[in-house]
Amino acid sequence: MSWNGIFYNKLMESYNDKLNYGGVSGERLAARLAALSEIGLTADKGSNRPGYSLEEKQAKDMVAGWMEDAGLVVHHDEAGNVFGRLAGKHNHLPAILSGSHVDSVPNGGHFDGPLGVLAALEVAQAWKDKGYQPEKPYEVVIFSDEEGARFNGGFNGSEGMMGLGSLEEKMKLKDSEGVSFEEVLKKVGLSAAQYPEAKRAKETIEMFVEVHIEQGKRLEKQNLPCGIVTGIAGPCWLEVTFTGEAGHAGNTPMNDRRDALVAASEFITKISTLPSAVSDSAVATVGKLHVEPNGVNVIPGKVSLYVDIRDIHKEPRDKLIEKIKQTGEEIAANHGTTVAYYETMRVSPVPIEEKTQELMEEAIRSQGLTPSCLPSGAGHDAMVVGEEIPVAMLFTKSVNGVSHHPDEWSELSDCVQTVHVLKSFVEKLQQGE
Ligand SMILES: [Zn+2]
Repeated sequence: MSWNGIFYNKLMESYNDKLNYGGVSGERLAARLAALSEIGLTADKGSNRPGYSLEEKQAKDMVAGWMEDAGLVVHHDEAGNVFGRLAGKHNHLPAILSGSHVDSVPNGGHFDGPLGVLAALEVAQAWKDKGYQPEKPYEVVIFSDEEGARFNGGFNGSEGMMGLGSLEEKMKLKDSEGVSFEEVLKKVGLSAAQYPEAKRAKETIEMFVEVHIEQGKRLEKQNLPCGIVTGIAGPCWLEVTFTGEAGHAGNTPMNDRRDALVAASEFITKISTLPSAVSDSAVATVGKLHVEPNGVNVIPGKVSLYVDIRDIHKEPRDKLIEKIKQTGEEIAANHGTTVAYYETMRVSPVPIEEKTQELMEEAIRSQGLTPSCLPSGAGHDAMVVGEEIPVAMLFTKSVNGVSHHPDEWSELSDCVQTVHVLKSFVEKLQQGE
């Protein structure tokens, strides 16, 4: 049997077909997830569709075909984003956008991204099958290059639409094979010079709603198919360098050392105790460390490490950054070393408006489900769009919290429940101004 067939059968295995109502079809969603999973399939049965690759383009073209089948008018912008638009009865009103991305990390999974795009499409398709036309225009969107697997950055599609991020900086980007941003775009029929034209007037969008897999275990622990995202954490990456003095491990007495690694170790241990003091959702992680000279018999003279600091609220997040810096200085002084900081990234967290969360709660209750709220620790296109436009996010339960891995999985019944909630939410949005 083909991979497509195996994947489809696995999805259907435990599907509760009572969830096929209101025009929503689990079989159709499964068939589409399965068809996409074949594009860029790896030896481990994972997905390899880097941003702006031919595989990503092939996936976009496949979905664009389905958009047309669903009666949507397809438009490609200069950043490679794809929009499928359904006219509203009042078509001059700002549109409701929903979607995600179809690129992946190397050897990633088949749900991170595609589920958000196909859930948004399923809503439009269900409406078409039931002859429903929304009051406001509705657009299914595929953002380019969300994961950043190619340029270590990501969000090049959503940043293009929002007019964020400088083209000058992007022009300096090179992928691991040394291919420039300009050349990469050219290979998929885009032009870097025209990239800024992707910028869209904010007034044309009322809200962006993104469905995404949770990539964590909170919903699984509560046995819920989907949950309301309360905010998207803004990451800050702090490069921290402790400088002491290298020396011979045998000939330097213990009381005459300025060991950069001892200082760094104390710092790392201390960091893990700091986030809970500022907020329930704050986190800080040291995941990368570089020791110099890195010899068995040499006292470490210099240690560089990276702290990833996040929270969905800006104030506590910024307070935590300051607290971490202060702690580093105290520890450095105690060990006779110096410490220097360099921020490589500081993105503002995106809170999700209270009234949006309440509407999502109503949508969840309307499906007979229990509402549950959770923060998003990871960045998403909604984080970029949310800098200037109201956003909502809905997480679907991930099996074992696995993601960015071929084993990434969400049960089809949970995915379809999420589609129903999304559909109900977007229908509720029609009643507003
Ligand atoms: Zn994603």
